[in-house]
Amino acid sequence: MYREFQQRSGMMRTSRTVRAVDGVTFALPAGEVLGVVGESGCGKSTLARLIMGLLPPSAGEVRVDGRSLAGMDRRERARLIQPVFQDPYSSLNPRQRIRDIVGLPLAAQGDLPKARQVDRVMEMLARVGISSEMAERMPAQLSGGQRQRVAIARALVLHPRIVVCDEPTSALDVSVQAQILNLLAELRRELGLTYLFISHNLAVVEHIATEVAVMYLGRFVEHAPVQDLFRTPAHPYTQALLASVLTPDPDLGIPDVGLGDTYPDPANIPPGCRFHPRCPQAIDQCALTMPDNIRRHGRLVECLLAVTA
Ligand code: SF4
Repeated sequence: MYREFQQRSGMMRTSRTVRAVDGVTFALPAGEVLGVVGESGCGKSTLARLIMGLLPPSAGEVRVDGRSLAGMDRRERARLIQPVFQDPYSSLNPRQRIRDIVGLPLAAQGDLPKARQVDRVMEMLARVGISSEMAERMPAQLSGGQRQRVAIARALVLHPRIVVCDEPTSALDVSVQAQILNLLAELRRELGLTYLFISHNLAVVEHIATEVAVMYLGRFVEHAPVQDLFRTPAHPYTQALLASVLTPDPDLGIPDVGLGDTYPDPANIPPGCRFHPRCPQAIDQCALTMPDNIRRHGRLVECLLAVTA
């Protein structure tokens, strides 16, 4: 799948093409959690919006059970895929009561009698730990963690198959993050959900994902089962990201081990391996040859050295 944007910059307002997602292909089996990690600007949020159907791809498609999202109307898509966004402060309408916010997707579908809608809303709120008394409140009367619980209830009230979680804990206090992650893990087990889980935080991804894709300048450079990736990272970028977790402030999200501080420009992708200007293991050929996706022992690695490893 590909997604390009035109970006205007400079005094002359010249147009540049940014390839935010540049040839990403994956299949996500039902019930699994794919964690997508990478630095800010690597394309992971664009990928999330493509999967949610909020953006059309420039090329390629998203299929669920063999059916293209592009062929579905908005209500059908909403029954299949729902989002949980980063910021529970801006994602809830401040002028609506909690029960109305959670009931909105049901009302938009319009196929349940009002009384059944209310039952479904209260059942889902109870499931995420929001009491019937809190259901009558406005978002401003709830804490950040409670608001994110409401956002999760709203995402699940239609019983979707797939939930796209875009940094769902990063705006929350550290003490609340684990509670929300545990809730998401529990709901996945109980309801048989499939998650695409976007995060810059490797510790969060390790906690919840069953498989992990590492994204760099619009591509998956490594994709592996979670334990394999954390025990034996194969791509030099994955190795650097994991090393950055050991630095005093891993939440900065910027790896600082062996990469220097050259920030990649997605409108100016280097030739050859796109990671070569920052790669501690680069050889001469890396500036000339784009590596293939090497698939081996259930993992995918995009590095010339993976061929000989
Ligand atoms: Fe590094 Fe070369 Fe592998 Fe790219 S292909 S990740 S530059 S070693």
